Amino acid sequence: CGIVGYIGFREASDVIIKGLKRLEYRGYDSAGIAILNGTLVVRKGKGKVANLESLISQTNVKGTIGIGHTRWATHGEPNDINAHPHWDGSQNFAIVHNGIIENYDALKQELQNKGHEFQGETDTEVLAHLIQEIKEVTDVDFETAVQMALKQVDGTYGLAIVNKNERDKIIVARKGSPLLLGIGDDEVFIASDASPIIEYTNKVVYLDDDEMAIISRDGYQVKTISNVALSKEVHELEMSI
Ligand code: GLU
Repeated sequence: CGIVGYIGFREASDVIIKGLKRLEYRGYDSAGIAILNGTLVVRKGKGKVANLESLISQTNVKGTIGIGHTRWATHGEPNDINAHPHWDGSQNFAIVHNGIIENYDALKQELQNKGHEFQGETDTEVLAHLIQEIKEVTDVDFETAVQMALKQVDGTYGLAIVNKNERDKIIVARKGSPLLLGIGDDEVFIASDASPIIEYTNKVVYLDDDEMAIISRDGYQVKTISNVALSKEVHELEMSI
């Protein structure tokens, strides 16, 4: 339902929680966050962003890279396990996803036959395991594994991924579910609509379908999921606050 991400110099969890609150108007049943800070910390649960805030106040989620999500369940009941972010089976990376992976059932059965064990019932967790499987079997780099997985997926996605082995990077992708980047000085914001971003920057890049972006502290690179580099227009939003 809602995605917020941040990479830069601020406390990522602060930016993300604030952003998720700005997306609350869309409605949701669960909320969660993943912070990259040497390791990868995931906190998530059923209920309001305020519940997530109290969850993270009990643990150290300090870090300047992270992603967050508010979920509107489509596959799997609203509960703590089905809340996003979702891990891959080796807990190397975490993904948040808006939309529906239509062929998740067939993919899930194939992955289960290969030994993957799933914690919850979401279509999103299937995508996480599919990326992991491709990475392990083909030994391509992580970004390529994401591209290969997305080509096997039918359905819609706006998604963001952080990987504990890629400490300065967020990968995002879009098909049929909005996603934009907010471009600041030495920081980049990600969101599923502009409301979490406008207080920080009015420069935005809209991803189109079948596009992805590799985001680091120094900037971003947009390409198609077939790995063709793109040069995207930077729009200036009218600030109305
Ligand atoms: N299909 C995913 C799920 O049910 C994402 C739902 C959403 O867009 O929030 O977990």
